[in-house]
Amino acid sequence: MIKQIIFAVSLLITIGIFSYTVNRLISFFRFTRPAFPVKDFGKRLMVTLEVAMGQTKIFRKPVIGLAHALVFWGFCLILFGSVEMVIDGLTGTERVLKILGPFYDFLMASGDIFALIVAVSIIIFLARRLFFHIKRFEGIEMKKRSHRDANISLSLILLLMLSLMAMNIGYVGYTISEGGTVEGIFPVAGIIFPLVSSMSAHSLKILYEASWWTHILLIFFFANYLPYSKHFHVFMSVPNVFLSRLEPLGKLPNMDNVTREVKLMMDPTTAFAAAPVGAPVERFGVKDAEDASWKNYFDSLSCTECGRCTSVCPANITGKKLSPRKIMMDLRARMKEKGPLMVKNGRDFSDNRSLLRDLISEEELWACTTCNACAKECPININHPTFIIDMRRYLVMEEASAPGELKAVFSNIENNGAPWQYSAEDRLNWTKDLEIAIK
Ligand code: SF4
Ligand code: SF4
Repeated sequence: MIKQIIFAVSLLITIGIFSYTVNRLISFFRFTRPAFPVKDFGKRLMVTLEVAMGQTKIFRKPVIGLAHALVFWGFCLILFGSVEMVIDGLTGTERVLKILGPFYDFLMASGDIFALIVAVSIIIFLARRLFFHIKRFEGIEMKKRSHRDANISLSLILLLMLSLMAMNIGYVGYTISEGGTVEGIFPVAGIIFPLVSSMSAHSLKILYEASWWTHILLIFFFANYLPYSKHFHVFMSVPNVFLSRLEPLGKLPNMDNVTREVKLMMDPTTAFAAAPVGAPVERFGVKDAEDASWKNYFDSLSCTECGRCTSVCPANITGKKLSPRKIMMDLRARMKEKGPLMVKNGRDFSDNRSLLRDLISEEELWACTTCNACAKECPININHPTFIIDMRRYLVMEEASAPGELKAVFSNIENNGAPWQYSAEDRLNWTKDLEIAIK
């Protein structure tokens, strides 16, 4: 009974802290702008199965991609064992899901095997980060804190797997030593157990109990650490893929407020009507975190900081300041900074800082070629170019700010109906010296 009480209190504290954190993050969404309507559920399900569950984009780097996919699939399978631990912890039962019969054997066997696979993969990930200078993990946005955060999260996952393996060995060991029946199949624990068979049944039972508590308390801690770390993608990436933008990558979304204005101007009954008194002035494009859409913010919370986008960005590769990963990290950081202030003082509150210029420079924004390589490469379907374009839209439409070459193009389009500096009458001048003149 004492065990159940301690467990229930730990679980309540975990749920309480987690709910507070998630609630805080959700409260920032009400400051964001609308994005596309979420429909086409069948199509979304297919994208989720392919990109999230199948991990297809990760496999573009086959070796490390396989290791990452194994970690993901392992997590999904191990989750069943964790759910069982919660039920057992609350009700005082032991291995309550054994009623599932052969399916339970399958779940336990795969969880046991995957604990080892995930542990090995995590050791490889840690070694890459600590001992090899992988270019993808570097960049101006990758501060010491980002590296520390990644190492802490990976170490926690490693501890989770080691405690799970110890728990399985302890369980198999003490059950066999006491002549009981092992519920489930544990291939890895079965192989390792003979190495510790000299331990008494009592010691094996202590090993089991200690690793059981270590494992479940680590899960509780990890769940509350994740929202403050880049590994929040453990929760966010699958929903983010489900909420992917389904339109072709190169298709830019229209600006609703501009479309509305144009429609009003085309309508003779409204074209010359004065704007309603007190109507809020809508900002064109994105200047600060609250101008981003809910999907942009969702993307930023889901970003794994893997750097796959930046590693294929032609602007970044050719030495420009732009890094698509930084754009997402900056949006997340800015909402974290301004969100609580807006909760306290309202959406119009200004702290005299903004995402544009204080975090993201014009130089970065204009370096983007809109090639969409970043969005194509991102393993969780984050779309950077549309956000970059929205920030440029703010610069052009609200501040008339653009590089000199573009300003010349804009004024040519305005004056000549074409990007060139020739008037419409001169356009066919080049045909004059041809044998057959075009009229
Ligand atoms: S769309 Fe822009 S940010 Fe993305 S890869 Fe191309 S140049 Fe880089
Ligand atoms: S935006 Fe996507 S590809 Fe880029 S770092 Fe984040 S998760 Fe990785």
